[in-house]
Amino acid sequence: MPFGAAKSQAGAIAAAEASSGGLTMAKTKTLDDLFLDTLKDIYFAEKQILKALPKMARAAQSEEGKSGFLHHRDETQGQIERLEQVFEFLGKPARGKTCEAIQGIIAEGEEIIEEYNGSDALDAGLISSAQAVEHYEIARYGTLIAWANQLGLKDAVALLEANLAEEVATDEKLTALAGSQANVKAMGTASAK
Ligand code: FE
Ligand code: FE
Ligand code: FE
Repeated sequence: MPFGAAKSQAGAIAAAEASSGGLTMAKTKTLDDLFLDTLKDIYFAEKQILKALPKMARAAQSEEGKSGFLHHRDETQGQIERLEQVFEFLGKPARGKTCEAIQGIIAEGEEIIEEYNGSDALDAGLISSAQAVEHYEIARYGTLIAWANQLGLKDAVALLEANLAEEVATDEKLTALAGSQANVKAMGTASAK
């Protein structure tokens, strides 16, 4: 083989290695990695939600809203414990991974609290924020349950389904609360009278 050809071949291999960089790593990743990363995502999210719910309860004007947020705060504590059991089944330390989505959703909720403070529309806004949180959780748990089933992690499926059921029930309660009170109140005293 001419020297030049050998040299260009070596160059091509080096270039291929350089360009693949992270891709070489990514090729070794599997559904196990996706499952663990997503578990860390929802674990981080639940902990943020645990801190946000008392603030939402304090901000809510209606008694039903306040007690609803506090009730879900207690449920969230239990959900975090279930997630810790899932980590334990996997033999991995319970560790969160920053979820920018939940940070954004919670930031929007804080914006509602600031901008609608003292107005008739506050509770309707708070409910809308809470439902954005619940829907994020429902999306995450739906995916995690499908992956846990695929991976044959039966114990994890049961724990994740318990969390999902609480999120779905919370979402339904929020819909009912909005429809029975908050949305009507949000129309304003001028139109209500
Ligand atoms: Fe939750
Ligand atoms: Fe996330
Ligand atoms: Fe929730």
